[in-house]
Amino acid sequence: ISPLSARLSRITEPATIAMSKKARELAAQGVDVISLSLGEPDFQTPQYIKDAAKQAIDEGFTFYTPVPGIAELRQAICDKFARENDLHFQPNQIVVGTGAKQALANAVLSLVDPGDEVIVFSPYWVSYEEMVKLADGITVPVLGALENDYKVTAAQLEAAITPRTKLIMYSSPCNPTGAVFSKEELGEIAAVLARHPRIWAVADEIYEYINFVGEHYSLARFPEVAERVVTVNGFSKGYAMTGWRIGYLAARADVAAACDKLQSQFTSATCSITQRAGLAALRGGRASADEMVAAYRRRRDLVLGIVRDIPDLITPTPEGAFYIFPDVSAFLGRRTSEGVIINDVNELALYLLQDAHVAAVPGDAFGAPSCLRFSTASADEKLVEAFRRIKVSLGKLN
Ligand code: PLP
Repeated sequence: ISPLSARLSRITEPATIAMSKKARELAAQGVDVISLSLGEPDFQTPQYIKDAAKQAIDEGFTFYTPVPGIAELRQAICDKFARENDLHFQPNQIVVGTGAKQALANAVLSLVDPGDEVIVFSPYWVSYEEMVKLADGITVPVLGALENDYKVTAAQLEAAITPRTKLIMYSSPCNPTGAVFSKEELGEIAAVLARHPRIWAVADEIYEYINFVGEHYSLARFPEVAERVVTVNGFSKGYAMTGWRIGYLAARADVAAACDKLQSQFTSATCSITQRAGLAALRGGRASADEMVAAYRRRRDLVLGIVRDIPDLITPTPEGAFYIFPDVSAFLGRRTSEGVIINDVNELALYLLQDAHVAAVPGDAFGAPSCLRFSTASADEKLVEAFRRIKVSLGKLN
């Protein structure tokens, strides 16, 4: 019998990580695998940020810090929110942790009681559902329509609300779809929430800078709901800092205090050196991000140019982040040249790994069982080669 708790047996490993493991195993056998499974910028962290970290080490800034982060960093985060988002927080409303991931987990565990329903805009980022499970909450996925670029509408939200609804969660720009909510769309969502004063929102804005439409809007800007929004952001994507493990949330002071308390029992503060790096990043503004975004946009266009040429693949245009999320339902039920039927997106992803040697993530992990997610955060030549191979492999199915 397993020694593991019932709680753990309900949690699954992220499909994104599982798929990249499979790709690595194949690569270890000498196969030329192109992995488009992880959401990882392929840029270096900007030099000025690395320098700040080196300086922190040299100055001996290597001790425990306050759990929610050093005062200068929390102030710099308040300044960032004020400057870029027109959101006005005090440092006691900011909690810095080990990535946006911890900020999200802090928020969910602080707000959700057993049996509470959490409406998760779907397709959603893989970890939302598992975090809700860890909190003994109930995920209520609401799937955005392909025709609406997978964006959930206010009417869909309203229809999913029950007396047990406690929280809604979404990301914009969205992982996995790249969809960006406009001010108007968020305004309609805010209007629904305004009618339901018990419901909170977690707005995951980690891809804020990777936005090709220009305007990023925060749900917390609508005064009628501002108090009930936890805004999550960080450094991993915009500053290419995935390995540094730093992200943050901004919330009403009592909720921020709860997140601080929770974090104090799990991890304490994130790394002191990383916090100095984060401080330098924010003080440097978003110029370095803008360079990366230009490359992400170029790659998006490059990839869309190729995939739109593949018959039966339906790919909405991502407005941000660095993924494409095509609908592949036309290929389900087809046969490989060996006569094996592809029953679902998991089998299709495995087929593409084995036949095209390209790793993608099956959409069911994101609540979208007719899609596959491909990261476009790879070098241009790699992307061209990957989608050339995919076209050939998909073409063999009939
Ligand atoms: N939220 C979304 C939508 C993400 O895609 C990711 C990372 O892939 C995260 C949060 C976590 O970010 P971090 O690396 O800062 O923990």
